[in-house]
Amino acid sequence: MARHAVTLVPGDGVGPEICDATVRVLEATGVEFDWDVQQAGENVMAEYGTPLPEHVLESIRRTRVALKGPITTPVGTGFRSVNVALRHELELYSCVRPVKAYRGARNLREDLDFVIIRENSEDLYAGIEFEKGTPECRNLLEEISTLSRKRIRPDSGLSIKPISVSGSERIVQFAFDYARQYGRKKITLVHKANIMKHTDGLFLAVGREVAQRNPDIEFEDRIVDNMCMQLVLRPQEYDLLCCPNLYGDIISDLGAGMIGGLGLAPGANIGTNGAVFEATHGSAPKYTGQNKVNPMAVMLSGVLMLRHLKESAAADALEGAIAAVIAEGKSVTYDLKPARNDPSAVGTSQVADAIVEKLAS
Ligand code: NAD
Repeated sequence: MARHAVTLVPGDGVGPEICDATVRVLEATGVEFDWDVQQAGENVMAEYGTPLPEHVLESIRRTRVALKGPITTPVGTGFRSVNVALRHELELYSCVRPVKAYRGARNLREDLDFVIIRENSEDLYAGIEFEKGTPECRNLLEEISTLSRKRIRPDSGLSIKPISVSGSERIVQFAFDYARQYGRKKITLVHKANIMKHTDGLFLAVGREVAQRNPDIEFEDRIVDNMCMQLVLRPQEYDLLCCPNLYGDIISDLGAGMIGGLGLAPGANIGTNGAVFEATHGSAPKYTGQNKVNPMAVMLSGVLMLRHLKESAAADALEGAIAAVIAEGKSVTYDLKPARNDPSAVGTSQVADAIVEKLAS
């Protein structure tokens, strides 16, 4: 059996605990890994002068696959989010977020099974912003009023929303490739093209062109507000959603809420230079070191990683073992119990014990 070289970034806060638990269950599948453990975040600032040292990026460029715990972004320190920097540096332009109901979780419906693919690099997240009242902002406001003949209130701030043909083309093509690889039958492109003709309208037009080159997969589109309502009323009609950055971010959390919350919401950031698998949730700092939070979101990200590594039998086995533990409802953390202060809730490492036991049986 092939050994897989994988970069492991445990992160901070609850990251190290949930990553430890995940490494244990991944190894219990029988797949062999060479873990290259790399630290990033505030804790390495003093030593390397940056929260994301070059050797961490080099490791991921070499292994092309990373499993990552959450990393805290301190507020108001000028410290750039390591998570955003990592996506940028490695050009991880697509974010994959499956929304799947496991029996026993607090699901909106029991038959939920769709995937959200979110563009990760453009849109209002490009980080091009102008603070109200600054000379740059005033200049831009004047320029805009000259060019558009529309007046923006002078006490406005500005956030710029770039959406490009090339960026749209690669994410929509990624969605088609993903659908083909994982047996998804239909892509729904999400937009607000009726209002933002030159950004969302461009995304939709490019999407339609790419769809013409991929006629084996059904293609449709929905306006984002309608999409949210449809997902709550008729989610079974959707298979794979392809979204620009902002709508993808919001709809992903809607999706997480539909399947019982952040403790069960996995994710993958995939791009030209590699793939980073991580939970949707953050570092939950108030629970650090308490052996309390749910490791299943990182474990399910590990399932996505196994599929990416073409270890589908191990992926099925691990997903089945996690699903069985959720269905039994015994060895689960507080967030999966009917009441949050349920004394029968177990800790992070006991969840891993139960899953390892299932894998062995
Ligand atoms: P968070 O997701 O860390 O936590 C919010 C709340 O959700 C927690 O207090 C807890 O009640 C619950 N929760 C989260 N994960 C859970 C789990 N595995 N099991 C059970 N309950 C869980 O969000 P936050 O408090 O807004 O962010 C904390 C820090 O994490 C911030 O610095 C933020 O920037 C960072 N963050 C990092 C990432 C990442 O590394 N990709 C993602 C999001 C947030």
